[in-house]
Amino acid sequence: MRIGFITPEAFPYAKTGGLADVTGALPRAFKEIGESCALFMPLYPDTKATETRLSFEILIGKEKKPARVFKTKDQISTYFIGNDFYFNRPGLYGTKDGDFPDNLERFAFFSQAAIEAIRRLNFQFDILHLHDWQTGLIPLYLRLKNDKLFHATKTVFTIHNLGYQGLFPNEKFALLNLPRQYYHINGIEYYNQVSFLKAGLLYADYLTTVSPTYAREIQTAEFGFGLEGVLRSRHNELAGILNGIDTEIWNPAKDPLIYYNYRNPADKRINKIQLKKQLKLDEGDTPLIGIVSRLASQKGIDIFSEALDKIIDRGFQVIILGTGDEVFHKILQDKTRRHPSKISLNLKFDEGLAHRIYAGADFFAMPSRYEPCGLGQLISLTYGTIPVVRKTGGLADSVSEFEPQSGNGNGFLFEEYDTESLLDALARAKKVYDNKDLWHQLITNSQKVDFSWPRAAREYLKVYQTLIKGS
Ligand code: ADP
Repeated sequence: MRIGFITPEAFPYAKTGGLADVTGALPRAFKEIGESCALFMPLYPDTKATETRLSFEILIGKEKKPARVFKTKDQISTYFIGNDFYFNRPGLYGTKDGDFPDNLERFAFFSQAAIEAIRRLNFQFDILHLHDWQTGLIPLYLRLKNDKLFHATKTVFTIHNLGYQGLFPNEKFALLNLPRQYYHINGIEYYNQVSFLKAGLLYADYLTTVSPTYAREIQTAEFGFGLEGVLRSRHNELAGILNGIDTEIWNPAKDPLIYYNYRNPADKRINKIQLKKQLKLDEGDTPLIGIVSRLASQKGIDIFSEALDKIIDRGFQVIILGTGDEVFHKILQDKTRRHPSKISLNLKFDEGLAHRIYAGADFFAMPSRYEPCGLGQLISLTYGTIPVVRKTGGLADSVSEFEPQSGNGNGFLFEEYDTESLLDALARAKKVYDNKDLWHQLITNSQKVDFSWPRAAREYLKVYQTLIKGS
C-alpha cells in the first residue's frame, strides 16, 4: 500500500508534543510490518536536508509565495517544504509569548505546497494520512483541485488533541483562496472564526483519534469543544487507535538512563532507593508516587495539588517532574516547603530524571481532566510502575482496576474529577502495596501488555484497507 503522511511535526526533526512521536514512530512501524510510508512536513531551522530540484509558488491571497522542496533519506523518505519567511524561525507554532500571528498563512501555505509537491513528484498514494489542525484544509483543497492523480487517494485525518483547533479571524478567510460558500456554519466556520480543524473533520474520508474512549468522548458536549455535533455526524467514519511507545527507548531491561536494569519488576527496588537518595527524600519503605507531566489543568494538576497534604499525611512520598502554568509552580512550591523530605519538586524538562522516575516510583499518577491517549501510563506500565489515573480517554483504555479477589487488573482508576475520588483510588492502591502477595501479583500484571507501535500500525492498516475496499 502506498501511504503518505502529512504532518506539522515528526520526531526526530521537530517536536512539540506527542504528535511528533506518533508521526515519527508509525512510518517506522509500517516498515517493520512490510509497508512503505513517505513523510511530508515543513522545513524548520536545524533540519539537515538536501535541496531537491523541485520549487514552485503557492498563492496566499493574491501574493505568490515560494516553496522549495528538500529531502532526507534515512530510514523513511521525508520531504520538507521550505519557505524561509514562514518556517525559518525559532518555535513551531509560536513563542512563549503566544502563537505566531500568521499561522493561518503558514499552514495554508504548507497544506497547498505539500499537495503540489506530491503532484509534481507524481506520487500516487492510496492513503494520505493527515495530522492535526495544521493539515485540516488538505482534504478540502484536494476536493476542489479535482486532480486525476488523487482520484483514488483516500484521506485519513487524525485528531491528536481536540483542544487545539487552528482558529483564525474571519477576515483572513480570503487568504485561503477558497470559494466563499465554504465559510458557513456547515463548512469551516466556527462561531465566526475560520476553523482548520473543522475542515479536516468535515472533508476527510475517515477520522481517527488516539484512543477508543476519546473517540467516544469527543462526541459529547463535555469533551467536544463545540464540535461534538460534527463528530457525531461522522461516527461511522471515526475510530480510536491507541498510540504505542518506542520500546527501544522505553525498555527497563536496556534503558541506559536508569540506575539498574531489570526485566522483572520485583527487581526495580534499587532504582527507588537511588532515586530517593538523589532527590534527598526520607529513607524507608514508604510508597512513592511519581508524576512526569506538563503542569497544566488538562493534566489534573489542580486536584492533585489540592490533595497533596492529605497524600503525604496518608504515608506516601511524591516526586513531581514538569513545567507549565506559573500558578501550579507556585502552589507546588508552597506544598514542597511544608514537606521538604516527602515531596521532591523538579520544575524542568529532564529526560534522564523522567526515566529514573518511571523506573523508581511505585505508583505513577495521571489524574487528567481529559487525555486523548497519554504516554505516561503506557511507559509506567512497561516499567512495572502502577498507574493511578482518572478513567478518561486513553487512560481508560490502557489501565484496568486491580481486583484483589480475582488478582486481575494493572492499576487504579477513579471517575469523578475531584480530590476525594483521587484520594480513594490512592487508598485502594496503598492497601495493595501493603500486602506483599497482592502487590507482587499487581506488578506482574502490569507488564502483560502490548503497547508496541507495530500493534498500532496494524490497526491503522485495517482502517486503510477498509477505506480502499469501500471505494
Ligand atoms: P502530553 O503530550 O499531553 O503532554 P503525554 O502523556 O501524551 O502528554 O506525553 C508526555 C510525554 O512527555 C511523556 O513521555 C512524558 O514522560 C514526557 N514529559 C512531560 N514532561 C516532562 C518533563 N518535565 N521532563 C521529561 N519528560 C517529560
